[in-house]
Amino acid sequence: MDQWSLGRARVHRVEEWSGAFLTPQHLFAGFTAAAYAACKDQVPADYLEAATDAIQARLQSWVVEVGGRRLLIDTGAGNDKIRPGIPLFGGLQTPFLQRLAAAGFAPQDIDLVICTHLHVDHVGWNTQLVGADWVPTFPNARYVFPVADAEFWDPRRRHLYPEKTGEAVNEGFFDDSVRPILERGLADLVRGPLELFEGVRLDPAPGHTPGSTVITVESAGERAMFVGDVVHHPLQLWNPDWNSIFCEEAAQARSSRRAVLERAAALEAVLVPAHFAGQHRVRVQRTADGFRPLGLDGVGL
Ligand SMILES: [Zn+2]
Repeated sequence: MDQWSLGRARVHRVEEWSGAFLTPQHLFAGFTAAAYAACKDQVPADYLEAATDAIQARLQSWVVEVGGRRLLIDTGAGNDKIRPGIPLFGGLQTPFLQRLAAAGFAPQDIDLVICTHLHVDHVGWNTQLVGADWVPTFPNARYVFPVADAEFWDPRRRHLYPEKTGEAVNEGFFDDSVRPILERGLADLVRGPLELFEGVRLDPAPGHTPGSTVITVESAGERAMFVGDVVHHPLQLWNPDWNSIFCEEAAQARSSRRAVLERAAALEAVLVPAHFAGQHRVRVQRTADGFRPLGLDGVGL
């Protein structure tokens, strides 16, 4: 079952894409062969293919039913987008909306769309192509975007932020997947920390992008932290200083990752990163000198 309970809340996973991505050596700045060798055997094959070292990845969204509302967290790459900077996610034709329907939700059922951050693989289904126009996919939703990312990635503000690690790979997303939402007045641009409503809070975790945000859902004493790309892969729990090559600000990204892992361990929260394959979520245990993942095999989640 691709759904689980969190207190009285319910979480549904909706997959858009699955496949092999880069190897750890190529994805992680800070990678060392020695650190990798020390932990790779503890990573199940559905997260990391042993023969090729290919990271197994997903594009996936979560619908969270909490407090009488339906949240959609992150919206993948979308269909029909033109993506010269990352052809892997361009021109997709996936049955994402049919999978959403199979999970029990029509687009009009979604009350809030929340993007953990604005990147090409987190905003795609915000819009869909109708005729020649990009129109909001979720007609009754407010869209919650981190204001720092809305400013940073807007091509019209490029003169203010000329240096961007992710400029090429993210080409196009703002104009087809963010601006159409802004122009229709459907977006709430937020800066955490803030309580969105009872049981749902947003906290800044900058570094991967300036606006990267952690969404914490709490119900009946149980907590889940939807952390976007603050964590890409379980290897980063053993190696919290490994940034992805897509992180904009390295020192900030490392310190945000450590803070988020500390908090997940202290709260005994389920950590839900955006791109985990395998069990798609994990628990975090504090050790004497760092962290380690619990539940990679599904036990104890
Ligand atoms: Zn991502």
